[in-house]
Amino acid sequence: MDIEGLTDAELTALAERVSAEQSRRQRSRRCEVCGVEFEGRSDARFCSDKHRVAAHRMWRTVMTTLTEMPRWAIFGDDKAPYQRDGSRASVTDPTTWATAAELTGHGRLGFMLGDGIACIDLDGCVVDGVATDAARAFLERFPYSYVELSQSGRGLHIWGQADERKGKRWTTDDGLKVEWYSRERFMGFTGEVYLLGSLKPLPEPEELQ
Ligand SMILES: [Zn+2]
Repeated sequence: MDIEGLTDAELTALAERVSAEQSRRQRSRRCEVCGVEFEGRSDARFCSDKHRVAAHRMWRTVMTTLTEMPRWAIFGDDKAPYQRDGSRASVTDPTTWATAAELTGHGRLGFMLGDGIACIDLDGCVVDGVATDAARAFLERFPYSYVELSQSGRGLHIWGQADERKGKRWTTDDGLKVEWYSRERFMGFTGEVYLLGSLKPLPEPEELQ
């Protein structure tokens, strides 16, 4: 559209249309528990009181479970794990890990997968805060799991439980890049909730492919 060719009245009408569209988008919210779209204030996070209460309980459970495990390291700008003294932490050396409490105040943190905690990494599947159709379809297989945005804000991490085994990467038929890890992998933990659930058992890669 050539904005310079518009009259003042046309410019005003255009501005009104843009602002109406913006406020419509702000009213349409996505419940962090069930994923359902609902109309609400721009700071509303849940579709109902029931889901607000459930969310509070689930968040506390997720955080208690993970923070009590001494499997944390500082998430460096290069995405690598670091110890408090600035030296590298190793995914295979527990003496370089710490509790979340020991690292609080030292910047962004990440978790060493293993001991029953696993994560599925969906890369590049979020555009302007909205998951792609392929990602949404994939997420339907993880009802009430804890899902958060990655550090870049362009990916999703599904956290859950699985026995330690070899990781796996694949691309789904609709083009979604999937990485499945349950050991020897450092994952940033952002707390940027996409779906607020709990740490559910994750299906094995072979069941998901
Ligand atoms: Zn809901």
